[in-house]
Amino acid sequence: MREKLMELLESREEEMIKIRRHLHENPELSFKEEKTANYIADFYKDKDVEIETNVGNGPGIIVTIKGAKPGKTIGLRADFDALPIKEEADVPFKSKNEGVMHACGHDAHTAYLLVLGDCLIQLKDQLQGTIKLIHQHAEEQPPGGAKSIMETGKLDDLEAIFGIHVLPLGPAGTVGYHAGYSFNGRTYFKLVIKGQGGHGSSPDKANDSIVAGSHFVTAVQTIVSRRINPLHAGVVTIGSFDGKGSFNVIKDSIEIEGDIRYSNKEVQEVIEKEFHRIVKGIEALFGVTCELTYTPDYPPLYNDPELTDFVAETLKTAEDKDIKEVKEFPKLSPSEDFAYYLEKIPGSYFYIGCTPKDVDDPYFNHHPKFDIDEDAILVAAKAVGHVTCSYLDN
Ligand code: MN
Repeated sequence: MREKLMELLESREEEMIKIRRHLHENPELSFKEEKTANYIADFYKDKDVEIETNVGNGPGIIVTIKGAKPGKTIGLRADFDALPIKEEADVPFKSKNEGVMHACGHDAHTAYLLVLGDCLIQLKDQLQGTIKLIHQHAEEQPPGGAKSIMETGKLDDLEAIFGIHVLPLGPAGTVGYHAGYSFNGRTYFKLVIKGQGGHGSSPDKANDSIVAGSHFVTAVQTIVSRRINPLHAGVVTIGSFDGKGSFNVIKDSIEIEGDIRYSNKEVQEVIEKEFHRIVKGIEALFGVTCELTYTPDYPPLYNDPELTDFVAETLKTAEDKDIKEVKEFPKLSPSEDFAYYLEKIPGSYFYIGCTPKDVDDPYFNHHPKFDIDEDAILVAAKAVGHVTCSYLDN
């Protein structure tokens, strides 16, 4: 089956590129991807397959391919949302939706999974087990689509899940993997500190929220520098301190907002605990009132070490002319909602090199000039195809 699948994929490379370009020209923002979702659903319409639409908190789609022979059940996920970025890439299939751009390569993810899915449907008679294709909306904007799709229970029967991301960390033909924690988790916070306003000349009759807030800003710096295991990583960033007032007035309240990142669950827990402690301390120290909004969104992404080894071994031994190098990639500091699937289902999220040809210093994902080498789309389809065949055959 593997040989036939690879043949089919190779014969449909042009179609994958065509689909990618169509999606690239017609990008849609997270939770508003109606046309994209319809396009995906239409693609499967006349095929012998079960399709569920509007899965989760947006237009997510699950396509279930049941093989003729019994076996394991796995999930393959591709996201399909775009970003609020005005495209500056010089391509003939530039975004027609002004101010919206497929700057993260989710167009390529969707293109490969559609065609791979169709080829697997064609080979159903030889297929051992069940494959659920997860076309996911809203990866880019918390709360994201993944968590809500998990909560429907429609993936409870998965024994493993796989997904890929295109990254310009190598030319097309490169596949990267990383076992264990691989993407950072993230939390948003807002802190309102309420003191008491007053005349600038009479601090004794007021309670200065700016002084309390300034101590808070300094105190939270000690979480990462003094509380985190130095072999782990964490970030606490104050992105906004709303202290604007008048020079001779003591400000009654201020608002601070920021971003917290962590490389694993342990760091996440330490930061959260210390953060709350410091907020309580500021209240005690200055007699102010603190209102804290602390909202963790995407968790740190944990790739199952065994399945990541399995992916690496499968691709290293695939002897596929389009998969030229399989190597370990570094941990990445952004966040990714594939992490929600991996909290419950063992799996691996791996990387497809997509650096455009003859480019030494490529624009990274989310840049207005982000572009990919489209050869990477076939590599993605083949890599996920190999992993699927090996997993289900085992
Ligand atoms: Mn992405």
